[in-house]
Amino acid sequence: MNADLHCHSNVSDGVLSPAQAAARARAAGVTLWALTDHDTLAGQDEARQAAQALGMSYLCGVEISVTWAARTIHIVGLHVDPNCAALATGLRALCEGRMQRARAIGDALERLGVPNAYEGALQYVTSPTLISRTHFARYLVKQGMAASISDVFGRFLGDGKPGYVPHRWASLADALNWIKQAGGEAVIAHPGRYPYTPLQYDALFGQFIDLGGKAIEVVTGSHTPDQYQEYADVARRFGFEASRGSDFHAPGEGRADLGSLPPLPAGLKPVWERWL
Ligand code: AMP
Ligand code: MN
Ligand code: MN
Ligand code: MN
Repeated sequence: MNADLHCHSNVSDGVLSPAQAAARARAAGVTLWALTDHDTLAGQDEARQAAQALGMSYLCGVEISVTWAARTIHIVGLHVDPNCAALATGLRALCEGRMQRARAIGDALERLGVPNAYEGALQYVTSPTLISRTHFARYLVKQGMAASISDVFGRFLGDGKPGYVPHRWASLADALNWIKQAGGEAVIAHPGRYPYTPLQYDALFGQFIDLGGKAIEVVTGSHTPDQYQEYADVARRFGFEASRGSDFHAPGEGRADLGSLPPLPAGLKPVWERWL
């Protein structure tokens, strides 16, 4: 089983269409795939049809932006019903918030001496409903303001940097409630990436469990190999099932390509087993 249950298409901040991403996943040997665009399900029909035509098993997915303890975290929903009204309504509100935040990011960059960044980012937006910091980052790289996407985040758009605009996303309870209503399972995305203290991490995991959450990503393109082991230990300690996903966005951009990561560490229960 080569499961890749976290990646993005041009329906959010990736660059491949859902069908192109499916083909890339298949070519890399993925057998169970989920497209998990940020805060939207608009790519799910195309992804599912392409996956099935290529002989891959498919889970409908989404990566929901959540504010917890004044920081942004991501909750992946797997095996969600793309026609669930509660989920769709919640995601629509998040996308509207993204539009407002994007204008504020444009204003912040203007004050830093980068004119028309909002209009510039719009040139990189590939879906009518969804604008992301990644689109700003691609524009700033194109303008020669930074050497790479991660350079943009390190200097301008990352948490606490001068172009960062704080934003209130969904609550953890909302995200888990929407996923539950849509018949899916919630997974804490790339848990190693958050700026929490050990005490806050334990509180996050405890609240997630209290709200019905059962799984965390262990092997992800956002973790180092040391973190695979660290979060395997977390999974054992809290009784979490484990997930695996590249968090692929674009060829040559970022850390991991589709289907390229090592398998889960031995002894963990894969979250996907329930759907096989
Ligand atoms: P947003 O959801 O619009 O706030 O944008 C978050 C997205 O920006 C993430 O999903 C990543 O694709 C990208 N991102 C965040 N931090 C970094 C980073 N340090 N390097 C590269 N991409 C990043
Ligand atoms: Mn992204
Ligand atoms: Mn994420
Ligand atoms: Mn992601």
